[in-house]
Amino acid sequence: MEKILENLRKNGFTVTEFATKEAAADYLAESIRGKTVGMGGSMTLGALNVYDRLAAANTVFWHQVTPGDEVSVQADNAQVYITSANAISEEGYILNIDGRGNRVGGTLMKKERVLFVVGENKLSGPFPQALERARNVAAPLNAKRLNKKTPCAVDGACHDCASPDRICRALVVLWGKPMWCGEAEVLLIHEDLGY
Ligand code: SF4
Repeated sequence: MEKILENLRKNGFTVTEFATKEAAADYLAESIRGKTVGMGGSMTLGALNVYDRLAAANTVFWHQVTPGDEVSVQADNAQVYITSANAISEEGYILNIDGRGNRVGGTLMKKERVLFVVGENKLSGPFPQALERARNVAAPLNAKRLNKKTPCAVDGACHDCASPDRICRALVVLWGKPMWCGEAEVLLIHEDLGY
């Protein structure tokens, strides 16, 4: 784990560690105020239960609360963006697979701050293992959760399908903090969270 954290820092990411999801939620609520905030689709962020606290001090856009494309576009264009990751590789690369593109887009658009909230179950080995995790663990579980008609939702393995319901349409690998981003921060929580 130390090697991954060291490589994340070398790649320009700030890393902050938390023992619990409650401590990470406190940090988010205390450190983000008076901003427009976008949140990406994430089981981890749902588990933190932090939307209402952020919304009390910011203007927050999250399609898991207000469904629709428009709110996702507003989220992508917010000053601050919060999401999770499908995997973080040993080299300190952050991987996310997306279907609509809004979640990965939010990490790439010009931002004051992007925060990746991740449980330690997302930490992986070298890049091929991290990609394997994203494709064969995270994506099938998400397809099943979303009731998609894909082969992975049935057997839990990626078939690189051509289904109309395919949720894997973009892979973004952040090798480092994008130049457009003021601060890119990984909030590592020492619990298993999300997929
Ligand atoms: S490509 Fe298709 S089969 Fe593979 S994880 Fe994505 S939706 Fe499932």
